[in-house]
Amino acid sequence: MTLQSLEAPVARVRQDKFQTALARHGKRLSRLAPRILQINVGKICNLTCVHCHVNAGPKRKEIMSGDTVDRILGWLEVNPLETVDLTGGAPEMIPDFRRLVDRVHSMGAHVVDRSNLTILLEPGYENLPEFFAERRTEIIASMPCYSPDNVTKQRGEGVFDASIQALRRLNAIGYGRRKELPLHLVYNPVGDSLPPEQSELEADYKRELKEHFDIDFHNLYTITNMPIARFAAYLKHNGKLEDYMRLLVENFNPASVDRLMCRDTINIDWLGNIYDCDFNQQLGMTLDNGNGPLKLWDVDLETFRKLPIRTGSHCFGCTAGHGSSCGGALA
Ligand code: SF4
Ligand code: SF4
Repeated sequence: MTLQSLEAPVARVRQDKFQTALARHGKRLSRLAPRILQINVGKICNLTCVHCHVNAGPKRKEIMSGDTVDRILGWLEVNPLETVDLTGGAPEMIPDFRRLVDRVHSMGAHVVDRSNLTILLEPGYENLPEFFAERRTEIIASMPCYSPDNVTKQRGEGVFDASIQALRRLNAIGYGRRKELPLHLVYNPVGDSLPPEQSELEADYKRELKEHFDIDFHNLYTITNMPIARFAAYLKHNGKLEDYMRLLVENFNPASVDRLMCRDTINIDWLGNIYDCDFNQQLGMTLDNGNGPLKLWDVDLETFRKLPIRTGSHCFGCTAGHGSSCGGALA
């Protein structure tokens, strides 16, 4: 069974169930004014993590072209947003990455780079920390655990040591230590469980990383693994997909709904197609107006706000327990 054929039925079968759960608690998923443009610039990455919801890796060819970058920049000129959030893959690996960051910063928007950290040590990327610091880019970095064993299980051999080295580099120029150079870490469970309480885990991370490696960071964001793409295939392979879905559904938390990221975010893929979030993007749940998928440059902020949010079973991944978003727990 291909990943695509695995994901689509899961989304379809439970689609009503998520809407039913919302309705049962008197909730409705409606949009607010968009605040964030999240750009998934492509699937190329120097790693191949087991939980990856993008199926990213070094051999993926889907990356944003210079022309698409130009169209996005042109759109942002007339539709200014507070924040542009860059993700991938490893977003730093696309040829136009620095040009994109530079222009968005010069427009006055806040730039977020979602980094796997190890890329900062690869040849050709070593001076990225200084480039980011000059543009006050916020760095949100994956760090699934403060202990080497768990990181190795999820991300592969050598990734923990490389991540520590990259964090030291960032700390050395002030990231994670100065208010204007924000460095946040992202935790997601190694297996098929929900993340623990965010502030308690943050305290553990801060203590352990400081004591053993003299590393500082600002906040820890806990993120639930989504039952899609590589993680869904892993669960399916181990006969755990149904149990994991049950865990998410049984832990539905209505208090998380008002802060779901799809309410104020526009997500786009490497071709400029628009989605509600990066998870819907990976499931191919495009937004359209009846004439096919919409590109970013087909809409303005008001038109986008009127489009309904598409939901599916994977949405329970955002509402389980303390809730989950690109900015961590929600409730
Ligand atoms: S989880 Fe992140 S670092 Fe790992 S393969 Fe996917 S995009 Fe790359
Ligand atoms: S998966 Fe996407 S659309 Fe569904 S609740 Fe989460 S952010 Fe919203």
